[in-house]
Amino acid sequence: MKKKQLAILGATGSIGTQALEVVRANPDRFVIQVLTAAANAELLIQQALEFRPRAVVIADERKYAEVKKALAGTSTAVLAGNAALEEVVQGDGIDLVLTALVGSAGLRPTVAAIRAGKDIALANKETLVVAGQLVMALVEKHGVNLLPVDSEHSAIFQCLVGEDSNSVEKIYLTASGGPFRGKSREYLATVSHEQALRHPNWVMGAKITIDSATLMNKGLEVIEAKWLFGLDIRQIDVVVHPQSIVHSLVQFADGSIKAQLGLPDMRLPIQYALMYPERVKNSFKRFSFIAYPEFTFEQPDRQTFRNLALAYHAMERGGNVPCILNAANEVVVAEFLKGKVGFLQMSDIIEETMQAVDHLPLPSLDDYMATDSKSREIATALVTKSKNLYHIVK
Ligand code: NDP
Repeated sequence: MKKKQLAILGATGSIGTQALEVVRANPDRFVIQVLTAAANAELLIQQALEFRPRAVVIADERKYAEVKKALAGTSTAVLAGNAALEEVVQGDGIDLVLTALVGSAGLRPTVAAIRAGKDIALANKETLVVAGQLVMALVEKHGVNLLPVDSEHSAIFQCLVGEDSNSVEKIYLTASGGPFRGKSREYLATVSHEQALRHPNWVMGAKITIDSATLMNKGLEVIEAKWLFGLDIRQIDVVVHPQSIVHSLVQFADGSIKAQLGLPDMRLPIQYALMYPERVKNSFKRFSFIAYPEFTFEQPDRQTFRNLALAYHAMERGGNVPCILNAANEVVVAEFLKGKVGFLQMSDIIEETMQAVDHLPLPSLDDYMATDSKSREIATALVTKSKNLYHIVK
């Protein structure tokens, strides 16, 4: 069997390290060609010494010398900077690029990989949130596979195997509800980032964990699903399922519903995307019905967790509005993690940024990049403006 040649963008993160676990357990199936990180030189070096890729990229150029020196005796090429990410994904022989970096930084390398004809295992949902229309047009034009890694989208994808996609009536994305499910706005006004980082079911990177607490993650996933599965936004519903066992569901034209279930373990959807269409035996823990005697479902609280409503609104307006939503969200989440804005202020700033940036109905890649930086600028100014107020409230 020919081994699959992989590039992993964001190899040092939560998804990246779990993907390398899958690779480590299947040495007869994969060869690592490229590994990348933002700034974690130490782990990137360790990974490079283990997997001997053809190239590594450290986005933070200040870390270049450290990585270069550590890998001096090897055949691994060391590159630095964001432009290098776009370059390495195009390498000859790469079959599949796993996009496991965070935020809109994933857009350009993903576009470069698609243009070079590479299949994509997409963890970086922000790519489709920012520029779904453009990315899906490129996927079609270059005839590449776009395989979802997000557990909900992997679930939908698995439910659709063997089905006619025209027969989909609607899909239900499940949400755990995060650490603040059932809490009031009064309670949320004073929660800290330490509390928000305590997700009940999943261990993930900091940004997506905060997004899960605010329900923005589900909003981003609604937009991701719209593009991945070619649906109208009204065909996508969200249901809170605190056990995180039913990963999502598809309802077909005849009213029949298919769901995909499993323990909350990201290695499952990662393995499915890396090995698609094969199902390969592994040693992950199996689900027990006895350990989960009850599955429950409830409506999300869109009044308290306004981000979900804002994401639907952004998608309904279309064009560059989801890009504005995403950029503002990246800014406020980073500031919330530093304790600089309050939990509820995050939605206020996102909404204000969405009102302040000009709407472009059919943006080009450059328009998206310009929208992204303009929105960051406005959201950052709004954070500064709101800081004093936050400290008084706190
Ligand atoms: P982490 O923060 O754990 O890891 C992010 C990775 O990307 C790290 O390798 C990091 O490098 C690198 N990185 C971060 N920012 C940049 C940048 N600007 N340029 C280049 N590289 C960068 O994130 P996760 O693994 O949690 O999430 C990755 C993506 O997958 C996100 O889009 C997330 O929404 C999605 N996802 C994650 C899930 C999860 O369970 N974690 C589940 C479903 C989707 P360094 O280590 O050096 O900082």
